[in-house]
Amino acid sequence: MQKVYLDNAATTPIRQEVIDEMVTVMQSDFGNPSSTHSIGRSAKAIIETSRKTIARYLHCNAQEIIFTSTATEATNWILRSAVRDFGIKRIITSKVEHHATLYTVQALQEEFGIEVSYVKVLSDGSLDYAELNDLLSLELKTIVSLMHVNNETGVVHDMEKIGVMCHQNKALFHCDTVQSVGKTELNLQQLPVDFIVASAHKFHGPKGIGFAFVRKNLVLQPLFFGGEQEKGWRAGTEAVHQIAGMAKALQLAYDHLNSERKNIIALKNYCLAELKKAFPSVKQNGTNTFYNILNVVLPFSPEKTVMILFNLDMKGIAVSRGSACQSGSVKPSHVLAEMLSEDDLKRPSLRISFSHYNTKNEIDYLITTLKEI
Ligand code: PLP
Repeated sequence: MQKVYLDNAATTPIRQEVIDEMVTVMQSDFGNPSSTHSIGRSAKAIIETSRKTIARYLHCNAQEIIFTSTATEATNWILRSAVRDFGIKRIITSKVEHHATLYTVQALQEEFGIEVSYVKVLSDGSLDYAELNDLLSLELKTIVSLMHVNNETGVVHDMEKIGVMCHQNKALFHCDTVQSVGKTELNLQQLPVDFIVASAHKFHGPKGIGFAFVRKNLVLQPLFFGGEQEKGWRAGTEAVHQIAGMAKALQLAYDHLNSERKNIIALKNYCLAELKKAFPSVKQNGTNTFYNILNVVLPFSPEKTVMILFNLDMKGIAVSRGSACQSGSVKPSHVLAEMLSEDDLKRPSLRISFSHYNTKNEIDYLITTLKEI
């Protein structure tokens, strides 16, 4: 059976060159980076070279990149340390953030009794920036946690505008850039952001490795203890092969960005045009969306909603839900619930997310399959 992978916002296939790089490191550089002998030093050198590579592509200092297991860990660490150690009294976020942020914020609210404000999300998925400005004008030690690209709809938030507002009002800015690192140019020297987080598996790297960017002079305290690795901020023996794989993946992502982005834009446009031809009343969820994510409401009856992902899966097509079927009832995604009308929420929304590995033939197969449902 043909297999079509259109779920690249969930994770991406690893590039062969990245696998090769990791295998080489595992075979030849197994030393513990904390060991002082040459085998250990050689592993340490791989980590530091990787850090420099990542910093070069993101235009920051290597010392500002801290390796973590995932973006989820990095977000937990940053928000927790900000509240516990910087005396933050309020977090401003939004209801369309990834659960990595939302659940962390909720836990911190319960534990530390901090205030939490959610910026209004408009029906096109954008944020109410005027409201954010009003919220920020209240004098209270604040960290703002707002994502760059929404992982479900692809809606792009204006990182620069948010950052400027934050800094004018003396608030810190943490930005979840999981969906944009490796997929768009980010100049951290210029962007007014204090923290960003990333996971390698979103840009054709390995799973279980990510990093935080922590702006120079911001001194966080560790999430857990046990060693001096990563300036003592992230104890535990480093995953050398994963780190090397992540740096290689980021390097390849940026080296090929222009051509791969061009192909993906053409594919997304083609997919939307073909969907409109096949289902004239299809609607796209969100405006100003990132080039690799397309989220649509299909004009199918609510009864078909439950079966649609299952049917696509049976035909070898991997896409993601906009609505989840839980014990027989259809529960909308927390992101779409903020944006869509009651009627549209009952219909099947699909997130189709592309990579440079996808082809027009795969899109044709998706459309033909959808028409048969
Ligand atoms: N933030 C966003 C926007 C995401 O899309 C994801 C993953 O889906 C995460 C955070 C969490 O990434 P990870 O599970 O790799 O920590």
